This record gives sequence, C-alpha cells and structure tokens, in this order.
Amino acid sequence: MLKSLITEEQIKSRIAELGSQLNERFGDEPVLMIGVLKGSFLFMADLCRYLGTNVMTDFIQVSSYDGQKSSSGVVQIRKDLDINIEGKHVVVVEDIIDTGLTLSHLCQVWRTRNPKSLTVVTFLSKPEARLHELPVDFVGFEIPNAFVVGYGLDYEEKYRNLPYVAQLVDDPVTT
Ligand code: 5GP
Repeated sequence: MLKSLITEEQIKSRIAELGSQLNERFGDEPVLMIGVLKGSFLFMADLCRYLGTNVMTDFIQVSSYDGQKSSSGVVQIRKDLDINIEGKHVVVVEDIIDTGLTLSHLCQVWRTRNPKSLTVVTFLSKPEARLHELPVDFVGFEIPNAFVVGYGLDYEEKYRNLPYVAQLVDDPVTT
C-alpha cells in the first residue's frame, strides 16, 4: 500500500530552490554532475535543467540493496564513470542517503582522484538511519526512517515512475 509523503508540487518547488543554490555556488564555472543510478534518474534530469550550459553529466551505478528493503552492507560498482573527475567541480546527485554507506564509500574513492571540489546533493535523507558520517551539502527533504518509493526510488524495480514520494507500507493482513 502506498501512503503519499511528498507531493509532486513540493518536489518541483524544492528542486527550483536547489537549482538556484547550485547556480549561486558555481556561477559560470564548469561543473560535472554525476547521477547515482538508478534511483537518481528523475532528480538528476529535473535538477540539471536548472544549471547553465557549462555542465557535463555522467552516471555511476552501484548496488547495495539488490532490490530489497534493507542494505546488504557491501557497495558494488556496476557501471563506473566515463569522465575523469580530476580538476573538476563534481556535483554528486543521489536519490536518498540512508545509512550513508554508498556515498561515504564513493566520496572516499573520488577524493583520491583530486577533483577541484566535491559537492553532495541528495533528494532525500534519513538522518535517523545514518551509520556512516559524510558531509552533505544540499538535501531536498529529510524524511523519517521508513522505506519510500517513487520519483526514481523503487521496490523490486517498481514505482520509480511515480511523480511523488510515498511510503511503502505493508498491506493489511486479511483473514
Ligand atoms: P545507504 O548506502 O545510504 O544506506 O543507501 C543508499 C541507497 O539505498 C540509495 O541510493 C537507495 O538506492 C537505497 N535506499 C535507501 N533507502 C531507501 C528507501 O527508503 N527506498 C528505496 N527505494 N531505496 C532506498
């Protein structure tokens, strides 16, 4: 059962705010936006349209969930970056930070590759679930520690196309 948590209108207006904050930070400097697949695909698509013409995009695909509701604790890289990040302003675009394992691992690796700067933008964050500390520059929405779907986020590859975010709550037991 889906219980709506963040509406399409709330998402649109928050992304406009995040877009203008990123523009303030980088001005006309070139930026490389890296979307963490698959969950960030809608957020990345909407957010990158607020940035100017000096933007490159790339994607990385990692997995720590394997389509389930809890993390396996191991970050596997399924598709690495195509673009060298050295000397570039990197903006990492993530769907959700839960324990922080995925992004703390990626940022640790990327810092060794000498980017000019590393900025983390996440659509959602669950602060109560954090186990791995990492600096997060921009957060779309903070949410409670519950499993959510929609706007890129899936359960067993379903619900990514929803234009809103919903909590996935178990169906009531019928007798
Ligand atoms: P972390 O490594 O921070 O524990 O988890 C990050 C990744 O786990 C996210 O990129 C996302 O793929 C997945 N994840 C964490 N929480 C949720 C959730 O509530 N819903 C969905 N669909 N995926 C989640």
